[in-house]
This record gives sequence, C-alpha cells and structure tokens, in this order.
Amino acid sequence: MLNLVLFGPPGAGKGTQSVKLVERFQLIHLSTGDLLRSEITAGTALGIEAKQLMDKGILVPDEVVIGMIRSKLTSNPQANGFIFDGFPRTIAQAEALDNLLKELHTSISGMLALEVNDEELIKRLLNRGKDSGRSDDQDESIIANRIKEYNNKTAPLASYYSARGKYTGVNGIGSLETIFNDLCGSIEKLK
Ligand code: AMP
Repeated sequence: MLNLVLFGPPGAGKGTQSVKLVERFQLIHLSTGDLLRSEITAGTALGIEAKQLMDKGILVPDEVVIGMIRSKLTSNPQANGFIFDGFPRTIAQAEALDNLLKELHTSISGMLALEVNDEELIKRLLNRGKDSGRSDDQDESIIANRIKEYNNKTAPLASYYSARGKYTGVNGIGSLETIFNDLCGSIEKLK
C-alpha cells in the first residue's frame, strides 16, 4: 500500500494537490476537514459540536478525528492506499494513525510537506474565502488562530516523521503543475 500524509499549514494547497494525486496514484483521499464539514451539513451531533470549534479556528478533539479515520480505514480494505489530508494534526493523532495502520498490517510510506510562508497563506485563504463559502476562510482573526494552532500543535509533526526517516519537504509556492510534478517525483522515490 502507498499511504501518504500530505502536510502543510492551512492554505498550503493540500486539498487541491490531493485531488490530482488521488487520480494519478489511485488512492483514497481522506480529509478530516471535509469529513467534518459533511457532518455539519448532515446536522449530526458530532457536526454541531465540531462546528463550534471550527468556527473559531480551533482543532476538534483528537478522539473525534481518530474515530472518523478509523471507520474510513476499516471500511476500505481493498484500497491501494490513502492520502491523509489535514490529518494527523497532533502527535497523539500521528501515534493513533501508526497504530491503526499497524492493525491493518501497513504503515505510512512518507509525509510530503508543502512549504509556504505565512504572508502567502493569509493571502490565499482570504482569496479562497471569497468563493468557497467557508466562514473560517473569511475572517483574519480565525485565520490567525488556525495558523497559531498549526504552529503550536501541528508543526511538531515534521520532527515526528523526520525522526522516522519519512519527511520530504516540497516547495508549495509556484504553479499547480510544478508543485504537482515535484510531489509526484518525491512519491516515486517512496514506492
Ligand atoms: P481543514 O479543512 O483541514 O482546514 O480543517 C478545517 C477545520 O476542521 C480545522 O480548523 C479544525 O477545526 C478542524 N479539523 C480538521 N482536521 C482536523 C484534525 N485532524 N484534528 C483536529 N481538528 C481538525
């Protein structure tokens, strides 16, 4: 199996590149942000709880996202592999993911980290907010919270994967095609 963590701060381009990578490598895309937004749209209790935190730019509890990922992994036993987008976001989530994959007799092939500076991120998120309808992309103070959460809780994952020899940094600024080609080149080396 090819199991990739697509990593990077909010606005780095993880969602956009995931769509292209899924097609190229025939993987299943698992975005916890998308899964949470589906719960909100469906009006579930989980969605209602999560929305309150997402609207502030704060991470939802680890158990919630780990539970969602567990159910997707176990319901896709025939998959070629997965792209994890926006997950893991904390060390506890990374450890849980390692354990879940171990139960399925597989592991993370590598983390690909899209590197983009804060100034560019804020510009991209505010632009995305104009058409995406995502309220967390439309308010600079929510965006600032999301970047703060990323720096405090998520950025340390780079060292977690690096210590396991699984980290590859990719320049996330440039044309979509150049970034996609760089990602594909790095993935070929992992296969
Ligand atoms: P995203 O679509 O990945 O930008 O996520 C939007 C929001 O959903 C985040 O700001 C968090 O509130 C929540 N979220 C998504 N994925 C996770 C995760 N792995 N852990 C905790 N919260 C998450």
